[in-house]
Amino acid sequence: MIYLDYNATAPLKKQAQEAMLKLPCAPYNPSSVHGFGREARRLLEEARASVLGGINGVGYRLVFTSSGTEANNLALKGLAGYTVLASSVEHVSVLKNAGVLIPVDSDGCVDLAALEQLLQEIPGNKLVSVMMAGNETGVVQPIAEVVMLAGKYGALVHTDAVQALGKMPLDMQALQVDMLSLSAHKCGGPHGIGALIIRKNLHLDAQVIGGGQEQGFRAGTENMTAAVGFAAAIPSQEEIEKEQQRLGCLQEMLESALEGQAQVLGKGARRLAGTSSLAMKGVSSETQLIHFDLNGIALSSGSACSSGRLTTSHVLLAMGVEKALAGCVVRVSMGAATSEEEIARFIRVWKELYQRKQ
Ligand code: PLP
Repeated sequence: MIYLDYNATAPLKKQAQEAMLKLPCAPYNPSSVHGFGREARRLLEEARASVLGGINGVGYRLVFTSSGTEANNLALKGLAGYTVLASSVEHVSVLKNAGVLIPVDSDGCVDLAALEQLLQEIPGNKLVSVMMAGNETGVVQPIAEVVMLAGKYGALVHTDAVQALGKMPLDMQALQVDMLSLSAHKCGGPHGIGALIIRKNLHLDAQVIGGGQEQGFRAGTENMTAAVGFAAAIPSQEEIEKEQQRLGCLQEMLESALEGQAQVLGKGARRLAGTSSLAMKGVSSETQLIHFDLNGIALSSGSACSSGRLTTSHVLLAMGVEKALAGCVVRVSMGAATSEEEIARFIRVWKELYQRKQ
């Protein structure tokens, strides 16, 4: 099976698996005061420092959560009395917490003029949430500009960097956002663990309450094993840059081979290397997915990372893509194991279907 669905989840990296398997079967609870507890605390704090270090998180705290979804919910629900302004192409875990939607252009980039107008018009405390990179189109948002605008109007900024982690360099010092969400399984770590990175002076109301773990931001005994795996999966900036180049070439190979047959959504914007949202006009996403599956290629339509349901993508509709065309889109998302031969095979299988449907 050729796997081209990395934006849904990435295979567990060997080093993450090994780091977790190396842990002894000990009664580890980081809140216990005895020796086992202290060792668990050491391992947990080591993992925390390692993930934070990987994104240059000096001046920020990291709160482990169960997922990127939970990190987004904590960020957006944790500030009482704030109006949340979110781009209309966000993941549903952000979208469902938004009070006001910020429109995007036809490439899916957030409309900065519209954002400024909203910031002027909306009274009171405001939190702007714009993702770093889109799960469906891979479009990279202009976060520096968003931070500048928000700063001008005294608003805070959250960014969902779940898809950016491991796919583009992340540097908290350069970004200067107030909060940032991560998820381990998108970059080869285990499932069931995410993180919210929070500026140190910012207070959030915990959404999961109980024993006060995670510095009072998120109760519940920490998933220390997963935290260790998460830390081991974080690539270095050099590794990321090298991989970006490699996947960028494969993306170029794919999109140029399909010129005239596929419409690439978000093509005019800066995109993640390795993510292509492709429309085959007149052929439904479902038909395409079945065809690719029968030919041993796993990919998804739009944002099937939620429940596998094939619904029209809110992202494509927000970009102004017609409903009929939005129903003919598949997403190719590449990763560490993706090879030139696999992309060549994808192109052949695409062309077979395209020709058959003419
Ligand atoms: N944000 C984005 C951009 C995503 O692509 C996903 C993935 O589904 C999430 C958030 C949710 O992450 P998780 O699967 O860890 O809940």
